[in-house]
Amino acid sequence: SSSNVDVAHTIKVLLVGDSSVGKSSLLLRFTSDTFEDLTPTVGVDFRLRFMNVHNKRIKLTVWDTAGQERFRTLTSSYYRGAQGVVLVYDVSQRSTFENLRDVWLREVEMYVTVPDAVRMIVGNKVDLDAEHGGKETARQVSREEGAAFARANGCLFVETSAKTREGVMQCFDELVQKIMDTP
Ligand code: GDP
Repeated sequence: SSSNVDVAHTIKVLLVGDSSVGKSSLLLRFTSDTFEDLTPTVGVDFRLRFMNVHNKRIKLTVWDTAGQERFRTLTSSYYRGAQGVVLVYDVSQRSTFENLRDVWLREVEMYVTVPDAVRMIVGNKVDLDAEHGGKETARQVSREEGAAFARANGCLFVETSAKTREGVMQCFDELVQKIMDTP
């Protein structure tokens, strides 16, 4: 019916990854275009953003674990119905990259209910590396290694900084485009 024109297509996207990699900061940057030192909260939180893709109005809900991952209590309900998953690591903390392989990709594999859910791997905090004026030693995972890992696992890939905004809009734009293009 013609009333459908006004109804936004709703997409659910999740943020996962170790604590302190910047999930809440990416969410805040994407939905409010701000960065602040966040006080950690516990519980699941989500924020909305409307987008237009291929002339369709999209209501994007982005869910953040908001600290729950510390207690390893993310359950299947968090993943239910997600069409997109953003797996975040911190380029300056190698263990957070290794945990994508050892923990997060497996958990996504186990709990995501939507077939062909789109996965995006994000290397956050690139502002800390030498190219961006940070310390020479800050980066522990190269862009090439991150990209190769994503490719090997059938995931999209982008490096970001929630602090400077670099890559953040591109991350969600590409993810939503891919979701819309997935039959
Ligand atoms: P979460 O636990 O994964 O949600 O991580 P937070 O968003 O709470 O961020 C953890 C810490 O990293 C906070 O002190 C943030 O200010 C900081 N942070 C987050 N993103 C960035 C970034 O892109 N660059 C830098 N330099 N710090 C960041």
